Amino acid sequence: MTSKPLHSFTVRVQLPEVLAPLREMAMNLRWIWDTRTQDLFRWVEPELWEATAHDPIKLLSLAPRERLEALAKNRSFRSFLNETYEDLKHYLERPRWFNERPESSLRSVAYFSPEFGIHHTLPQYSGGLGVLAGDHLKSAGALGVPVVGVGLLYRQGYFRQELDADGWQRERYITLNPAEMALVSVGRITVELADAPVIAEIWKVLLGRVPLYLLDTNLEGNDEEGRLVTDRLYGGPEEHRIRQEILLGMGGVQALAALREAPQIFHINEGHAGFSGLERIRRLMAEEKLGFGEAVEAVRAGAVFTTHTPVAAGIDRFPRWLMEKYFKGWSQSADIDFEELMALGHGPGDSPEAPFNMAVLCLRLSGQANGVSRLHGKVSRNLFGNLWPDVPEEEIPISAITNGVHAYTWVSEEMASLFRHHVLPEWYDVEPERWEGILEASDEDIWRAREQGRERLVAFVRRRLKEAGRARGMSEGDLTWCDEVLDPGVLTIGFARRFASYKRPTLLLTEPERLKALICARDRPVQLVLAGKAHPADDEGKQMIRHILQFAQDPDVRRRMAFIEDYDMEVGRMLCQGCDLWLNNPRRPLEASGTSGQKAALNGGLNCSILDGWWDEMYDGRNGWAIPAAGLFQESHRRDQSEANHLYELLERRIIPLFYERVNGSVPHGWVGRIKASLRSLSPAVNATRMMREYVELAYDPAASRTENLAVNGYAGARALAAWKQHIRSHWSEVVIEAIGPDLAVADLESRHLVGARVWLGSLTPQDLAVELLHGSLGIDEHLHSPTIESMTLTRMESDPRSCIYEGAFSCPRPGRYGFAVRVVPYHPAIATYAEVGCLTWASPSRTERGLIPG
Ligand SMILES: *Cc1c(COP(=O)(O)O)cnc(C)c1O
Repeated sequence: MTSKPLHSFTVRVQLPEVLAPLREMAMNLRWIWDTRTQDLFRWVEPELWEATAHDPIKLLSLAPRERLEALAKNRSFRSFLNETYEDLKHYLERPRWFNERPESSLRSVAYFSPEFGIHHTLPQYSGGLGVLAGDHLKSAGALGVPVVGVGLLYRQGYFRQELDADGWQRERYITLNPAEMALVSVGRITVELADAPVIAEIWKVLLGRVPLYLLDTNLEGNDEEGRLVTDRLYGGPEEHRIRQEILLGMGGVQALAALREAPQIFHINEGHAGFSGLERIRRLMAEEKLGFGEAVEAVRAGAVFTTHTPVAAGIDRFPRWLMEKYFKGWSQSADIDFEELMALGHGPGDSPEAPFNMAVLCLRLSGQANGVSRLHGKVSRNLFGNLWPDVPEEEIPISAITNGVHAYTWVSEEMASLFRHHVLPEWYDVEPERWEGILEASDEDIWRAREQGRERLVAFVRRRLKEAGRARGMSEGDLTWCDEVLDPGVLTIGFARRFASYKRPTLLLTEPERLKALICARDRPVQLVLAGKAHPADDEGKQMIRHILQFAQDPDVRRRMAFIEDYDMEVGRMLCQGCDLWLNNPRRPLEASGTSGQKAALNGGLNCSILDGWWDEMYDGRNGWAIPAAGLFQESHRRDQSEANHLYELLERRIIPLFYERVNGSVPHGWVGRIKASLRSLSPAVNATRMMREYVELAYDPAASRTENLAVNGYAGARALAAWKQHIRSHWSEVVIEAIGPDLAVADLESRHLVGARVWLGSLTPQDLAVELLHGSLGIDEHLHSPTIESMTLTRMESDPRSCIYEGAFSCPRPGRYGFAVRVVPYHPAIATYAEVGCLTWASPSRTERGLIPG
C-alpha cells in the first residue's frame, strides 16, 4: 500500500563540492550526444541510470547520499569526471566552421518552432517537424552557427501511447515538472491575449552552446484559461491553437527583447510561429516610427520561412471572427489597419471574410522561403504559386533545402567507431570525398556492427513487449513468449513513423497471405518491427494500428513481428540502429522530406522507399531500393495495390535473396556492398551539417546582408524600398512592351538570332526595370521550361525619351523545338527577386519591325 501525498515538491540535492561539475554537465544537454558523459552518469549509479530512462537530473536527485560521498572520494571517478568536464569546456570554446569562414554580415539567428525534439526526457515533440528542429539546433552548435531556439514548454508535452488489450490506442498525458528537468528560469513576460494579460515564464535549455527558450504559462499568477495555453502540444480546438501561436510568435519576439537577444534573422519553422512577423512590425512602427509598408519591408528582409506542408489542408487557417477577437484591439493600439493586417493572410482574389492563412502570412513576410526537399520545393511552388500571379512556376521564390539529421544523436557507437577509423576522427563534418574511406572498411567489420545493432534491437523489443504486457495486467507466465520474439539472425524490416493515412503504414498488409509467406518462410524469413502514434483525433490511424496488431496475433507471425508502443526518439534510435531494411511507402508526393530513413542510412540500414521526399533526390540505383510509383492510376485504391505489389516483388526477388546470399562464410558480401554504397553516397548528404551550411549560405547570409542594408541610417533603406515599390505598383500599368525576333520555321543549330524590344516607360525610368530575353527548348505543351534568362541592353531612346529600345541575342544550342519570349520586370538593388513586387509584363509581338532590329 502506498499513500498519496497531500502536496509534493522537489528538494534539490546538495552534491559534494568536488562533484559540482556533475550538475553543470547534467544541465547542459550536450551529454545527449556525448557517450563519455553518458558513461560518467552511468557510473554514478548504473541501475538508477536505467531506471530513470537515462535522465541525469533525476539520477542526481535520487542517488543515495552515501553513494555520492563514496564517489567524491573515488580517485578514478574524479579523474574521469574532470576529464569529461574539461572536454565539455573545450567543446564550448573551440572555434568551428562558422568562426573560420570569410567575413559575412550574419551575426545571429532566432529559430522559432512549435516543437523541439531533443531527447525523450524533454518530450516537446510529436514527430518529424520537432525532431528536425532539435537536429537543426544541435547541428548549428556543431558548426558554431549563432542560433537560438524559441518555442513553448508544454506541461504535458505530447501524449504517451498505450494500447489496450484490443489493440486500440489510448493516450496518457504525464504532467512534467520543470524543477526536475534541465530548465533554468531566466525571466518573465506578459502577453496580451484578446486584451487579457497572460504571464509567461521563460525557461532556458542549453544544448552545448545553443540556448533554447521555452515559454510556459502554467503559473500561479494566471487564471485557468491563461494557464491552459501551454497545456499540451497540438491539443484542443482552433481557439486554443491561435492562443498558442500568438504566444509562440508574438511572445517569442517579446521574450527575446526581454533577454536582450537582438537576432538579425528570424527563421520560422512551419507557419505556426508566423505571428512573430506582426509583433516585429508593431515594434518597428512604434520604436522606429516606420509606416506599415516600411515595417513590412524591414521585417521581410530578415525573415526565413521553411514550409513543411505539401497539401493545402495541412495549413493553419483562422476564421475571421477569431482574428477579430485577438487582433482587432491589438491593431488599434498598434495603429495598424485591421484590413491591411487581414490581407497579409489572404491570397489574390480572397474575400476579406476568408480565413487567415498562416502560410500566406509567412510567405508575405519572409524574404526567403524554402521547402524541405527538392521535390517538396517544386510541390510548394505549385501549391503557393497563385500568390505570384503570372510568374512562371520555376521562378516562384520558394527554394529547397533538404532536411538532414544530427548524426551524433542517431549513430550507434559501433558505426561511429568505424567512421572515426575509416573516414576521420571528426567524421561529422568532412568533405563528401572523405567518405570514400568507408569503402576500405572490411565487410566483416561492417557486418559485425550491423549484427550488434540488430542484437540490441531484439533485446530491446523483448523488454518493451514485456513491459507493455505487464502494464496491461498480464502475468509473467503469460509473457514468456516475449523471450522468443524476433531472431537476431533474421532480415529485420523497420517501419516507424506517425500513423497518418498518407504514410500507408498498412501497405505491407495489402496481401496478408503473401506477407505471411515471407515472414514464415523456413529458409529465408523476414521479421518486422513497427512503431508509431496516431493523432488522438484520428480514428483511421488508430484503426491501422489495430489492424497490424490483429495480423501479428497469428501465432506463426507473432514470433517475427512486433509493434513497439509509444514511439519516441529512443525507440527511433533503437530501430534505426538495428533494422537492416528501412521501409517508407507514402503516397507520393505527400512526404515532404522524411528523416527516419536518413537515420537508418547513417547506421548502415538500407532504404526501401517510394521515390518521395529526400529519397527522390538521393537514391542512385545502388544505395538502396526504390519502390516504383504507380502514378498512372488516378484512383488511390488501385494505386495502393499496384505499389504494394511492386514492394512484394522487390522483397521476394531482390532484397531477401541478397540478404541471405552467403557465398564464403557468414557475411553477405553483396548486401554489405550496398551498405558501403549507401554510406558512401548518403552519409555526407543526410547529415544535418550539410543542411545547416545550406541554410547559412543560401538563406541566412543573403537575408543578413539585406536586413543590414535596409536598417542603416534609421531604416532609410526600408523607407526607400517601400516608397519605390508603391511607386512601381501604381504606375506599372503604364508600361507597354512589344518585341520582335527571328520569324523562322526552321533554324540552324548554333545560329545566332537578334531580338529587339520597344518599351514605353510611362512614369518609370530605365533604372526601375529590366527587360529580359528568355529562350530555350519547348516542352510537349509548347511552353518554355526552365529557359535561359538574360538581360537585354538599352541601346537608345526614341524621340520621346519614355520610349526605349532594348536589344538582345541568342543562339540555339540544341536541336528540336525552340522558342523565345521577352518581358519587362521591376528592378531594384534591394529586392531578392522581381516576383516580390508583383509586377510583370510579357511582350506582345511588334507589328512593325522598323527601327527595332538593327541591320
Ligand atoms: C525521426 C523521427 C521522426 C520523423 O521521421 P519520418 O521519417 O519523417 O516519419 C518522427 N518521430 C520520431 C520519434 C523520430 O525520431
